Amino acid sequence: KSTIRLVLGDQLNPLHSWFNLPRDDVHILMMEVRQETDYVLHHAQKIIAIFAGMRDFAQRLTKAGHHVHYLAIDDPDNLQSLPANIDRIITHFDAGTFEYLAPDEWRLDRQMDDYVQQLSIPSQMVDSEHFYTKREEVGTLFKGRKKWMMETFYRHMRVRHRVLMEAGNKPVGGQWNYDHDNRKSWPGLPAEPPDGRIRHDHSALWRTIEAAGVESFGQPNAAQFAWPLNRAEALQQLDDFLVSALPYFGQFQDAMSSKAWRLFHSLLSFALNTKMLGPGEVVTKVETAWRTGSVPLEAAEGFIRQILGWREYVRGMYWHHMPDYAAQNVFAHERPLPKWFWTGETKMRCLSMSITHSLKEAHAHHIQRLMVIGNFALLAGLDPGEVHRWYLGVYIDAFEWVELPNTIGMSQFADGGLMATKPYVSSAAYIDRMSDYCKGCHYDKKLRLGERACPYNALYWNFFSRNQKHLGTNPRLGMVYQQLRKMDITAYTAMQAQAEGLLGQLDDL
Ligand code: FAD
Repeated sequence: KSTIRLVLGDQLNPLHSWFNLPRDDVHILMMEVRQETDYVLHHAQKIIAIFAGMRDFAQRLTKAGHHVHYLAIDDPDNLQSLPANIDRIITHFDAGTFEYLAPDEWRLDRQMDDYVQQLSIPSQMVDSEHFYTKREEVGTLFKGRKKWMMETFYRHMRVRHRVLMEAGNKPVGGQWNYDHDNRKSWPGLPAEPPDGRIRHDHSALWRTIEAAGVESFGQPNAAQFAWPLNRAEALQQLDDFLVSALPYFGQFQDAMSSKAWRLFHSLLSFALNTKMLGPGEVVTKVETAWRTGSVPLEAAEGFIRQILGWREYVRGMYWHHMPDYAAQNVFAHERPLPKWFWTGETKMRCLSMSITHSLKEAHAHHIQRLMVIGNFALLAGLDPGEVHRWYLGVYIDAFEWVELPNTIGMSQFADGGLMATKPYVSSAAYIDRMSDYCKGCHYDKKLRLGERACPYNALYWNFFSRNQKHLGTNPRLGMVYQQLRKMDITAYTAMQAQAEGLLGQLDDL
């Protein structure tokens, strides 16, 4: 009897041992289903990218001699949910075994687990052969600890995997972390490398998606589609990045500019999260680039920390704390998203640029996500669940295992500080220091009061004032609370009134 092997849309890893040799008794099952397009409202490019990547993957497997059973979104036989389709295929092939690759999202993991419990044939979940760590590894490392320090985990990973290490467990260059060298704003030079991503025309696929009635938002950009669709394209993008952008990645990793959206970021998150690329091979190539002298250590270390450190760490956080993590809301924030989250039409130039760009490209880099959009959401007390669903929908790389801890934990501090030692919030001064967004803005970055005052300023103080119960004893916030206490009563009252006024008209800012 044959075996059915299920491959999900974010499991496009041709190097997985399942695909070493085609087997006549194995049917690989892939499907585009409404269950997956509809669990949250997605950016159009995210739907196109995943379907196009899946189709490319299926074609390559077929060419290599594998038996692939592919259900397109408009296939009349498609029952539009994983269990219903799997049931039908098992019956169709009279299969003797069912196997699936470990899902990365809790939602799918539960669904598959429930599904196989009731199956009458033997089944097995197989490792996706992608991550450095197992699901529970980070949880085990931090067992019993109140704070899960990323830096602790990162050093553990450097030693364990011998990345950027010298003999005797010493980090190369004598330092673990070059963060303090990596906080420069971008003066316009060196020039942003050209966006050399391969373009495809996916207009036909987009028409199929629309005709199937799938809802979405953001620009599809289908005729000039820019995201990598297979391993070869992803590798080419990685190699370009190593030469053209990585040398400057370190120093400018926190910079933002209205003139250069990508700056020196890799744009590899989609390829990594769909497993076209493995984290290990990316880290090795980056380390080799440093060892052969083509990039400075602070750039290689800064980049490796994102992948060997942050990416694995947030995944461990996710698996250990789900399902409760998704509902965390320590500040009891409950304001709905202002309507300009869906249009970019706000007078705050930093937010307008970051959101408009997100809607256009299905991407924003880390500091736009954290210190512009997330910062505002937290200061304004937006409902973290709504914020989470927006992030999960809008970005090309958004899969819950990585998006949720970044949004709920790092960005919204809704977990009460499990992940971040203090909330990532700022007034206008930080945004002005790291970007050119404030130039030409309707609002004045220096003002705290009045119609033209930058909303971040009053909201910043209001945030700390209203959340004193949770944050007042945080040793990292001593200075903030000292300043707040020193504020004279008239200034304090005016600032609070200004903040209340803003919070009452978020849609109009
Ligand atoms: P680069 O800056 O070139 O970084 C290289 C790689 O490092 C990324 O491709 C990514 O794989 C990894 N990385 C960097 N930072 C993080 C991080 N904080 N957590 C995990 N991996 C990281 N990243 C996602 O992949 N999916 C998400 O859904 C996602 N949601 C986010 C939500 C919020 C609120 C915030 C603050 C960050 C989020 N991130 C997410 C992390 C980060 O912003 C993106 O990984 C990055 O912007 C992707 O662009 P890039 O490939 O050019 O990254």
